[in-house]
This record gives sequence, structure tokens and C-alpha cells, in this order.
Amino acid sequence: PVQALSPLLKLHQEAADFYHRVLITTKAGERGMQYARQRDLSDEILDHFKIGYAPKQDNLLLTYLRGKDYSDDDLAKSGLFVQSQDGRLFDRFRDRLMFPLGDESGRVIGFSGRRISEDKTEAKYMNSPETEIFTKSKALFHFAEAKKAARTEGHLVLYEGYMDVISAYKAGVHSGIASMGTSLTDQQVYMLKRISRNIIINYDGDDPGVHAEERATNLFEKAGGFNLGIVVLPEKLDPDEYIKKYGAEKYLDEIRGALSPTDFLLQRLAQKYNLKNDRDRITYLNEAVKEIARLINPVEQDLYLDKLAKQQGVSKDSLKVNLMRERRRQN
Ligand code: ATP
Ligand code: MN
Ligand code: MN
Ligand code: MN
Repeated sequence: PVQALSPLLKLHQEAADFYHRVLITTKAGERGMQYARQRDLSDEILDHFKIGYAPKQDNLLLTYLRGKDYSDDDLAKSGLFVQSQDGRLFDRFRDRLMFPLGDESGRVIGFSGRRISEDKTEAKYMNSPETEIFTKSKALFHFAEAKKAARTEGHLVLYEGYMDVISAYKAGVHSGIASMGTSLTDQQVYMLKRISRNIIINYDGDDPGVHAEERATNLFEKAGGFNLGIVVLPEKLDPDEYIKKYGAEKYLDEIRGALSPTDFLLQRLAQKYNLKNDRDRITYLNEAVKEIARLINPVEQDLYLDKLAKQQGVSKDSLKVNLMRERRRQN
């Protein structure tokens, strides 16, 4: 038997339909549509992601849902309204492009709204608060769709932002997901593990993005059993900006060229040194060998030693002597 939707789930479904309809068909939505076009969102994409617009005017959602006979209790519990001291309800999201957030089977459980105005004092993204059906640490944007796509694409791609998932989707990566702006959690890692062991992490190319990639890598490695690929985009671009600038084909090359965690780590390490200076280079080589010594698989150790030797123009044998020394120290 088909299970009836709980009132909160039904309310969210109706809110998503409402925001979407406002964006697509109404005069009040023109502002949102203008912004959507500015971000290159086609009708098809707006439909696929069920993107909507929360209008500027006060309380349009409230009025709409009251007309559908929701009790104030349900409305208050939904998180879509803020409550004043005297208990009155107001629409929480106003003048924002609305991204519905789905659960594992695609049912709407919350929203994130992108600021449209230039007013930088307002948060760029505003999320639903925690509710009976929405837990931020477990939510993943586009999860239900990505789950299906992971079967054909053979991996999941993890992004920082909703717009990155969307642009990647347009470029042909349908297995993209994003956490809710918070850094990745253990629960999310656990959720991903059930879907695919092959994870490509493609955060923004800026410093916070690269740092977050390092942190995410550690989380996945702690959980174990993953095969990770890490993409660092040039010029501090995020995936959305990269695709806009260089196009889908180049972007797919970046995904195909994802680095192994060890290559990523060695690359990060190399950036800390001036490799034209011999003393710096020696320090780098020692540090790099230390990292390689941590690998459990001897075949992997051999492969990275080989690469490092060739890259730096030193003999693999000398690196190996150091590696053996390191291993004894680490044990
Ligand atoms: P856009 O392309 O729309 O400017 P972005 O995705 O590039 O947005 P980033 O600044 O890179 O934005 O942030 C990455 C993600 O972090 C966002 O997609 C969003 O999920 C989250 N985020 C950013 N700013 C906030 C905020 N003020 N509050 C909550 N979440 C935020
Ligand atoms: Mn960012
Ligand atoms: Mn970004
Ligand atoms: Mn962006």
C-alpha cells in the first residue's frame, strides 16, 4: 500500500510547487527569473531541480498554505516561517531563489534560498532550520537523482555548492551531490558508502575549498573502503565558474584527471617549498617519503617512489633507503 505523506512532507511538496510556479508563471516571479537567466538556468534545468522563487512580498506562502487548511502548528513546525514574540507567523524566505532539498527518495524536506539582492549584509544562502524531517548533517542536495546516476557513471561527485551540482549536471555529470554548506559529516560519508565506493571530490579551487578537500579526504579515509579521486580546479575557480569559462569538455577532462589522495597530498606539500633551491628540495623529498611510507600497500609505495624519483631527478634507490628508515621509525 502507498503510505500517505506526513503533513510536514506534504506541506513541503506544496511549498516547492508554489515557489516553482511563482518563478515560472507569475509577475511576482520575474525578478527571480531574471536572476535565474543571469545564472544560465534554462527552463529544463529549473524543472529538473524544481527551482523556485520566494517572492519579496510578505507572506505569500503563508497565505497560500493557510488556504490549504494547514494548522498553525504544522506551519510553525515546518521551519518555513519565523514566529514573532506574540506567535504570529511570517514567511522565512523572501526574495530568494529557492532550491528544494530532498531526502534519499527525493521527497522535499527543506530548502536553501540564494540571495538575489546585492545586499551583502544578508547571508548568501539561507537554509531551513532543523525540523522533524530536516537534519542538516544528514542532508545531501540532489542525492536521490545522484544515486541513480551513480550506477551508470560508476562514481559520485561531491561538490561544495548547489550551483556547482547544477552546472556539472548540464556538463553531463549527473551523479553530483552537495552537503549543506557545512563541512561534510560522518553521517553523510556513511550515506555515500551505501551508494558508491568511488567518490570524486571537486570542491572550489580557492584556499578554503582545497582545505575542505583535505578534510573530506581524511574523513573518507577514516571511514575506509573508498576509492577517492580529488580534483583541484585552477585559478581558484569553483566548478560552476570553471564550466562557464572553459566549457563542458574541458571540465570532464578535469574529472577524468582526478588525483589520487597521495598525489593530491604530494602536490600540496610541493607547493610549500621552493623546489629550485636544493635545501628546500631535500626537505620536500624527505617529507614526501615520510608520506609514502605511511601507505600500506607496497605496490602503491613503489609507484609513488618511482614517480617522485623521476619528477625530482633523484635515484629511486636512495629514496628507497630513506623509505625503509622511515618505516622502521613509524612502526
Ligand atoms: P554562488 O555560486 O551562488 O555564489 P557558491 O556555491 O559558489 O554560490 P560558496 O561561497 O562557494 O557559494 O559556498 C558554497 C556553499 O556553501 C553554498 O552553495 C552554500 O551551500 C553554502 N553557503 C555559502 N554561504 C552560506 C551562508 N551564508 N549560509 C549557509 N550556507 C552557505
Ligand atoms: Mn566556496
Ligand atoms: Mn563556490
Ligand atoms: Mn559559485
